[in-house]
This record gives sequence, structure tokens and C-alpha cells, in this order.
Amino acid sequence: MWENLEIALEKVEAGKLKEKPSADKLGFGVHFTDHMYFMKWSREEGWHDSKICPYQSFNLDPAAMVFHYGQAIFEGLKAYRGEDNQLFLFRPSDNFERMNNSALRMCMPRIPVEKVVKALKALVYLEKDWVPEGEGSSLYIRPTMIAVEPVLGVRPANEYYFFIIMSPVGAYYAEGCNPTKIYVSDEYVRSVKGGVGHVKTAGNYAASLYMSEMAKKAGYTQVLWLDACEHKYIEEVGTSNIFFKIGDELITPPLGGSILGGLTRNSVIALAKSWGVEVVERQITIDEVVAANSNGTLQEVFGSGTAAVISPVGELFYKQKSYIINGGKTGELSARLFSELQAIQAGRQEDPFKWVVRVG
Ligand SMILES: *Cc1c(COP(=O)(O)O)cnc(C)c1O
Repeated sequence: MWENLEIALEKVEAGKLKEKPSADKLGFGVHFTDHMYFMKWSREEGWHDSKICPYQSFNLDPAAMVFHYGQAIFEGLKAYRGEDNQLFLFRPSDNFERMNNSALRMCMPRIPVEKVVKALKALVYLEKDWVPEGEGSSLYIRPTMIAVEPVLGVRPANEYYFFIIMSPVGAYYAEGCNPTKIYVSDEYVRSVKGGVGHVKTAGNYAASLYMSEMAKKAGYTQVLWLDACEHKYIEEVGTSNIFFKIGDELITPPLGGSILGGLTRNSVIALAKSWGVEVVERQITIDEVVAANSNGTLQEVFGSGTAAVISPVGELFYKQKSYIINGGKTGELSARLFSELQAIQAGRQEDPFKWVVRVG
């Protein structure tokens, strides 16, 4: 069925293109490009009606199953503008492979990865003028799948929409790659083993909001999540994976069912190893981190994710106590990872891992 997935092209009428926001007013995820990618799935027909079309609203039945039972999965990746205005995607196939893992867990249909990457490249090329210039700016890409069959009944839907929308974004944190203040949650949890925390499904983010709002009110940027059973092992921070440099080791919690397997995490591990850094994937408790901070062996803490790439942590707040990390400054390894990853993503730096895909 996938073999005939021709992509139709419906362009916005000339003269009706949107005005592009100026470089200093991009924000994150608030402006959207002129076109989107869209296709439908039904149990009888498989994927069909594949097209690049004007960015538009959907008309959905109030009984559409996504509203009631939450079958919704998504991805996040970016297109970057490099020298000579070349455009690049970072590991796009890996994002769509991960989306297929999410689809499997949520009983949703698989997408044809190669064809969707091809469609994405065509879409980015069509919208090339939307890819912003400047360090830290990029075109954020949001592939999404939702259940649209209008039936009240708890079972996998028989009809789905898949779409890709895109948004020009500035640097994720207004402060740039500066250390963030993190609230360690020892009461609310994000995910349990056997649940859905290891896939990118919408409900995970709804579930995280309550604690995130409390952390924000207390003056913290993000929440550090601990394991659901013992509230002691570190899982991840906000929507990023987390790393600790203790002594000569770079430590990150292992993937094991409750943590999202970030592509940035995977890239950080590969890059750091290639520099001779000892990277260890193992369980680490919040008590070990606090102890390492007290005895001076904790050098750096940082999060990794597509949105911010690397976000250094300057302060942890745990059980009513504040712990300042590395004097609240960005560590050497964090800074090096941030600049090298950004350089690879924008095609400015050699790419020994073949992560970068050129558009056009
Ligand atoms: C998307 C996401 C990440 C980071 O994944 P990347 O592929 O590096 O962007 C980490 N944790 C959660 C919960 C996420 O949703």
C-alpha cells in the first residue's frame, strides 16, 4: 500500500503567503509556516491522500477518539541553515523510527519512514525561506499522529491523521546556553516502568504540567523527575535527558522503560566517547548527586534535547534545600558539547557519525 504514496502539492496562492516574523521576535512554537504535510490512514486503505498543502485547521468530529482516549504521538526535530544557505536535518530517520516505536505502544499505525523523510525534505525545501538565520535559530519540525475515528469506545481507532507542521524558532532559553534552576520532584512522578514514559505520547506532557507549574511558581525553570517507586533514582529533567559529570565520568540514567530515549542523549554519548570521555549509563540516585556536590566531585550537570540542545543546570532544589552546581556556571564539557553539536547540525563541522542530511 505504501508503494503508491505519491505526494500531491497544493500551494498557497501567490500573494497570500504569511508575513515572516523578524529574527528577534521568533519565540518558540508560536509562528507556523505557510504549508504543512498531511496524510490519512484507515484500516481498509492504509496511508492515503498524502499531500503538502496550505497550513490549515482540521474539522474534527467531537467524538474523534483522540479527544477522549488520547491516542496522540509526536516527534520534534529541526532544520538548520548553514553556510552558503545550505539546509540540514539532524537524524530525521531516527525520529521517524522512534515515532514508529511510539505508534506500536499506542496501537497506532506505523509510518513508512523513508517516504516520510522524503516528504519532509520536500516540505522544508518548499519552505526554505522560513528557516531562520543566526546562531541558535532553526526551523522546529513537529510530526504528529492522532486518532480521528468518531466513536465512543475504548479500543484502537480505525482512522488516523498524520501531519507535519513547522515553526521558526529562536534559541530555546532566552538566556542562551546559561545554567537553569531545577526543582527536584520527590512527590509527583512522570512515568513508571511498564507505562508509556519511554514514548512520545501527548498524555505524558499533560501529566507533567501540575508539578511544572508548582516548580515555576517557586522560581524554577524545569522539574527533575525521580523514579516512581522509590523516589530516589534520577530519570530525566523536563523534556530533556540528563547527564552528570562526576570525577572523570559522564553518567546518565539507562534507558529501561520509563525514560525517553533522546536522540540528543544518544548523540552526546557518541560524541563524548569519541573525545575519550568515559561515559557510563547507570542508575544514579539524587543522594549520590547531592553527596558528590558536597565533596566537590560533581563538576557539571546538563540536560540534552532537541529544543535546547544542551542546557546546563546551575542549581538543584531538593527537599527544601538548594544546591549550587559548578558555582552556577556553565561547565567546560557542557559548553563544548553545545558548540560542537550546533556546529555539526548546521553543517559547519565534520560529521563523522553521518547524522546530518542535506535538504535540496
Ligand atoms: C523529546 C524528549 C526528550 C529529548 O529527546 P530528543 O530526541 O533529544 O529531542 C527527552 N525526554 C522527553 C520526555 C522527551 O519528550
